[in-house]
Amino acid sequence: MYELVKRLTELTGPTGYEDEVQAWVADTWRERGLRVERTPIGNLMARVGGTGPKLLIGAHADEICFRVKSVDEQGFVWLTAGRGMGEQRLPEPVPLGLVAEILTEAGVVRGTFVTVTGHVMTRQQRGRAERHGMDWMDFYVDIGARTRADAESLGVHPGCAVINAVTTRREGRNIVGKAMDDRAALAIMTAMLEGLDRSRLRYEVWFTSTVAEEIGLIGARSVAAGFDLGLIVEVGLAGDIPLVDRRQMPVSLGAGPVVVHKDMSLPYSAAPTRALIQVARTAGIPFQHAVFQNFASDGREWIQEGVPTAMVAFPCRYTHSPNETVDESDLARTVDLLRAFVTTPGDRG
Ligand SMILES: [Zn+2]
Repeated sequence: MYELVKRLTELTGPTGYEDEVQAWVADTWRERGLRVERTPIGNLMARVGGTGPKLLIGAHADEICFRVKSVDEQGFVWLTAGRGMGEQRLPEPVPLGLVAEILTEAGVVRGTFVTVTGHVMTRQQRGRAERHGMDWMDFYVDIGARTRADAESLGVHPGCAVINAVTTRREGRNIVGKAMDDRAALAIMTAMLEGLDRSRLRYEVWFTSTVAEEIGLIGARSVAAGFDLGLIVEVGLAGDIPLVDRRQMPVSLGAGPVVVHKDMSLPYSAAPTRALIQVARTAGIPFQHAVFQNFASDGREWIQEGVPTAMVAFPCRYTHSPNETVDESDLARTVDLLRAFVTTPGDRG
C-alpha cells in the first residue's frame, strides 16, 4: 500500500492538468484486467466486472494547485488560486520555503515559495504580518530569473499551474506527502483489485477517476448517468491534533475508515450509507462516523444526477497542505470495507 500511495501522490496532476495521473491509473487498471476508457474531458471509466445493480466507485485525480497570475519585471512569479472562489480563498496554508514546480509547455520550472524575511522588513510590514497574516500579494515564487524576459524564456507566463514538489515519506507511524487528497483513494481502489474474485461481485462494479474536483466538482457530473448507486472514496478530516477541539472533529488517525453522513453541500444517501455501516459491522471492520464541514465531494454531482451515493473517507491530518498525513492501517481497512461492500448481496438502492 505504501508503495502505491507514494507512486500516486508524487505524480503531477494540478486541476486541469491531470494527464500524468490518469495515464498512470489507466495503465495500472488495464494491467489488472480492467477495460479503461478516457472521456473527452479526461475522466477515466473502467468496468471492474460482476452483475447486479450498477455501482460506480470514484475518486478524483486532481490535486490542490496555484496558477501564475503575473510575472513582474524582475522575473518574480505571482500566484492566484487554482481552486474555485478565486482570491476570496487564501491558500491553506501558504507553503513558504517549499519547492514550487511550475508546469510550462517546455517542461517543469522549479523555484521556491518565498516572502520577505525579518532582516529586510519594514516596521509597517512586520506589524501587518502580525495583525493580518498573509495575503496573495505577500508571497511569490523565486525561480532565479533576473528579468521578466528571463522567466518567459523558461516558458513561465500567466496561466501556468503551480504545485508543491514534495516527496512522500514515512514519519513514525504516519505517511506524509502532498495529494493524499485524493490519490490515496485511487491507491485504495487500485489495491482493491489485488486478488479480487470477480465472480463474487454482487454488483456490476465500475471505477472512475475524475478531473477538476478541487475547483468545484466539475468533472464528476458527466460520469454518473446510468448508475444505480455511487460510492465516493475521499480524503477525510482528522481532529486528533493540537489546536483542534475534539468536539469540532472527533475523527482520529488509526481508528478506521470514516462513514460521512453529510458535508457542507448535501446529506449522503441514507440507504447506501446504512448498507456501508452494516457491511462494516458484519465484517468486523472498525469505522468512524462523521459530518464534514467546509467540505464537498463529487457525490453532490452524482446525487443531483439521480444516483444515490454514499461516501467513505480515510482519516487525514493537515488536509489541503503539502504535508497531508495518513495512517497506512486506515487505508488498508478502507480497502477491506470496499471489498466487503461489493461482495455482500442486498438491496442498497
Ligand atoms: Zn478530494
